[in-house]
Amino acid sequence: MRAMILDAPKQPLRLEERPIPSPGQGQLLIQVRACAVCRTDLHIVDGELHRPKLPLILGHEIIGRVAGAGGVTTAGERPRVGVPWLAWSCGECPYCRSGRENLCDRALFTGYDVDGGYADYTVADSRFCFGIPDGYSDLEAAPLMCAGLIGYRSLKLAGDAQRLGLYGIGAAAHILIQVARYQGRRVYAFTRPGDSAGQEFALSLGAEWAGGSDQMPPFPLDAAIIFAPVGALVPIALRAVAKGGVVVCGGIQMTDIPSFPYEILWEERVVRSVANLTRSDAAEFLALAPKVPVRTQVEEFPLTAANDALAALKRGRVKGAAVLSMVTAS
Ligand SMILES: [Zn+2]
Ligand SMILES: [Zn+2]
Repeated sequence: MRAMILDAPKQPLRLEERPIPSPGQGQLLIQVRACAVCRTDLHIVDGELHRPKLPLILGHEIIGRVAGAGGVTTAGERPRVGVPWLAWSCGECPYCRSGRENLCDRALFTGYDVDGGYADYTVADSRFCFGIPDGYSDLEAAPLMCAGLIGYRSLKLAGDAQRLGLYGIGAAAHILIQVARYQGRRVYAFTRPGDSAGQEFALSLGAEWAGGSDQMPPFPLDAAIIFAPVGALVPIALRAVAKGGVVVCGGIQMTDIPSFPYEILWEERVVRSVANLTRSDAAEFLALAPKVPVRTQVEEFPLTAANDALAALKRGRVKGAAVLSMVTAS
């Protein structure tokens, strides 16, 4: 099979022919059809996340067909499944036992601790794979698996906010605007200053207002979610939320947060982060997405152009989500 390999941080991925992996006990062998490219992948390549397995196959927004199984029955079918970032949790630690397997002490993550989906085949624990709703092509479904899931968890942590600000209009926000509108919320979208194309994109998806992150929203927000990995946005978002408002940092990595006066946090404003996902987040979101219905906008790259996809994401050139296709000729 073809696989794009990360040998070490700060190096381009390298195409390699590898044997198809064999599924272990409880694992599925999956023929990958599409895998979305997440900002987390970029943080891993850039050496900003410190303990990836090396060499590594990146990719944790996997859509594929079951092609075999180790010790679990698949009834001779080849169902379509999705594989997210959470590859395994222990089920025994205090976090797992309190419904917070996203914080599991021994969790393993796809495309980080175990090989992921930038390849023709992968293996995954069947308990951490999900059926994918009909009505989505493989390419369209791929961004649901992280941009959608972690975006959804971020939205849950924003509480019942009616006026919701989103900072950074990429793959996650383009899905979340649709979900928030479906839930009757009002969305205020913030892009890099001067990014009028990004602002128009947000408005086209249902945002009520769009502007640069240097602008204040027309009304104080009940909550804001920051998807851009820019710590300087934390005090900016705190100034935009009303008393009691929540600022949720939705990414796995962020530049340092500058110091800020206590008065912008006072009056019970909250700053919090989101880490990973639980399987119940995935089940809830994958049931909700077709009801909205969430439509994803994807930019397709052949598997062998994974480096180009990462570069486009880094430059902020992707409208919606970048997705690698294993069925497109390179
Ligand atoms: Zn991700
Ligand atoms: Zn655990």
